[in-house]
Amino acid sequence: MILLARQTSETQKMLEALIQRLPVSHSEYTFYCEHLRRLQAGFAGEQLVDAKWLELDLPSPHYFLHDFQTMNDFGSTHQMDTIFLCPHFVLILEIKNITGKLSYDASFAQLTRTTADGAVEGMTDPFLQLERHVVWMKKLVQKERIDLPVLHAVVLATRNGILTKGFEGLPIFHVAGLRFNLQKWMERHQPRVRVDLLRFANLLLSLQTKLKKEVEVPLKEMTKGVLCPQCVNGQRLSYHYKKWTCPRCGLVDDDALVRTLEDYRLLVGQQLTNRSFREFFAIASPNLAYKLLQQLPLKAEGVKKHRKYWIME
Ligand SMILES: [Zn+2]
Repeated sequence: MILLARQTSETQKMLEALIQRLPVSHSEYTFYCEHLRRLQAGFAGEQLVDAKWLELDLPSPHYFLHDFQTMNDFGSTHQMDTIFLCPHFVLILEIKNITGKLSYDASFAQLTRTTADGAVEGMTDPFLQLERHVVWMKKLVQKERIDLPVLHAVVLATRNGILTKGFEGLPIFHVAGLRFNLQKWMERHQPRVRVDLLRFANLLLSLQTKLKKEVEVPLKEMTKGVLCPQCVNGQRLSYHYKKWTCPRCGLVDDDALVRTLEDYRLLVGQQLTNRSFREFFAIASPNLAYKLLQQLPLKAEGVKKHRKYWIME
């Protein structure tokens, strides 16, 4: 049973909105594209591994928490790609969707990949990341007096990530090895019948917090306005007779306002004023802005000049 489903991250959505509004000539354009590409690849890899689980015979009961995010007592954050709970163990997975020849040096905490064209790139040590998560989870298990071992593994989502040296004896395998490893772990760890798994899973769920990743938004340099979803390169829609229409492709867009509000939420924030609305939506008239604001699902506070609006979740 999936208690926490995997979703496109806010950072990914934000970067998607950002790139649409950033001129290609902007100095950071490729940086944002690369960041987005990595997030998309990571997400695709996680979905591949999620699909693999569906092919397996799993012990009962079992619970999944995907993309679990929390903050520990010291204020530092944990982001676990998958937590799998079953009567045999708690398993934490770190999912990597990286291609190339991978090698590892534990003494330097260094994962290196060499791509097909020979470029060598250093990557975050997935074992160190996992070790932190395991320590956190073991503490919780102990505090709750849950008699379950905490296991961990790095799963490679693609066959094109080739493990070379330094991984001997470490819990890392390709997604195809999930079945074999699961079997091995289940044989090694006998089921605990007296553990209240659902209670523990719900406790974990209650500790879930959405962590915000800070990405600097170059708001000034971005294209403002209600943009056409069909024409790229920042083509604006115009508002005539209560309709948003594209002067280039002729699209009449009923979702234009709501979609642009979502862009605003991702790139600016939850709060609007008549002025910030006009700036982002590129509307000159305060009166028209007022009328359009009334059409949106917003909570208003204050009167006249001091009126503020909040985007409802
Ligand atoms: Zn258009």
